[in-house]
Amino acid sequence: MNQQEAVSPRGLANNLYNNYAILRARIERAVELYKNNCVESLGEAKFEVAGNAEIYQITLSLGGCSCTCPDHEKAPGGLCKHILSACLYQAAHVELPARKLPTVIRLAKRLPKF
Ligand SMILES: [Zn+2]
Repeated sequence: MNQQEAVSPRGLANNLYNNYAILRARIERAVELYKNNCVESLGEAKFEVAGNAEIYQITLSLGGCSCTCPDHEKAPGGLCKHILSACLYQAAHVELPARKLPTVIRLAKRLPKF
């Protein structure tokens, strides 16, 4: 993995914070996915997230996150609820300064790890 593709949890957290207003509904659904243990880490910034009927493949990358769901093409910044839930997982499993974290990430960090 080169530097451009390296996942930065801090960058992801800042991105969520800066886009919180327009992404609010998707963030709230992402929190539900995360809390319901629908997010599975496959390592190397790859995840599987169980949606209503299908399992979607997610890759987190500063160069551009990807998801196999149809909403990925339509969501602001391509940030569908599956990518956001993978961001929550990533942020909750990496230590970051609390003041840098938006509310949703702070909430996620209070959830039990699994
Ligand atoms: Zn998706």
